Amino acid sequence: MITLALSKGRIFDESLPLLAAAGITLADDPDRSRKLILPTSRDGLRVVLVRASDVPTYVQYGGADLGVAGGDVLVEHGGEGLYQPLDLRIARCRMSVAVRADFDYAAAVRQGSRIRVATKYTAIAREHFADKGVHVDLVKLYGSMELAPLTGLADAIVDLVSTGATLQANQLREVERIMDVSARLVVNQAALKLEREALRGLIDALAATLPQPT
Ligand code: ADP
Ligand code: MG
Repeated sequence: MITLALSKGRIFDESLPLLAAAGITLADDPDRSRKLILPTSRDGLRVVLVRASDVPTYVQYGGADLGVAGGDVLVEHGGEGLYQPLDLRIARCRMSVAVRADFDYAAAVRQGSRIRVATKYTAIAREHFADKGVHVDLVKLYGSMELAPLTGLADAIVDLVSTGATLQANQLREVERIMDVSARLVVNQAALKLEREALRGLIDALAATLPQPT
């Protein structure tokens, strides 16, 4: 049995059409059923539903053979034990720095200065500001990052942005783009050796559904 880890929400919704194009359908709708393990129409393939940030961990330790994880989550995790054969180009967004519209970001990131940053992505934020030679005090949050600069909890946030509407609605300004993000297929390296044929078949079937890169 091959186990594919997906997370509810964007990753699940945008993976479904790719799976369908590869001839794989699911009988259950995870929004209606409470099941965490879903059979599929493909023999020997099942789907497990985990938190988006837990996908790399499940695949790393073999709780799932493969999974779909955002680039943000993968960079933060480190990618240890994971083979990353495909950029699925779904769930696309960017990782950015944002501040209050009235905050002088240029002054705050002069070499040797100090900035307080709230984020869920502490590894990415630490590395980003270290590269600029800026001292950073990190405040780890799990959600509603936009609130941090508005309440004085932090000077800046590092968070995902897609349209920028949430930032705008909260009088925040995107001041730096750290990286482009999309979801990738990740595979357990040991499973790839043990279940080579089944996994290769699935990876190739998914690869065939992607538009050719231009
Ligand atoms: P969670 O909030 O539990 O992390 P989401 O469905 O919001 O789950 O995010 C899952 C993944 O989708 C993220 O890791 C990221 O790669 C991507 N993502 C998050 N926010 C956006 C967005 N606004 N637009 C596009 N992709 C996003
Ligand atoms: Mg979210």
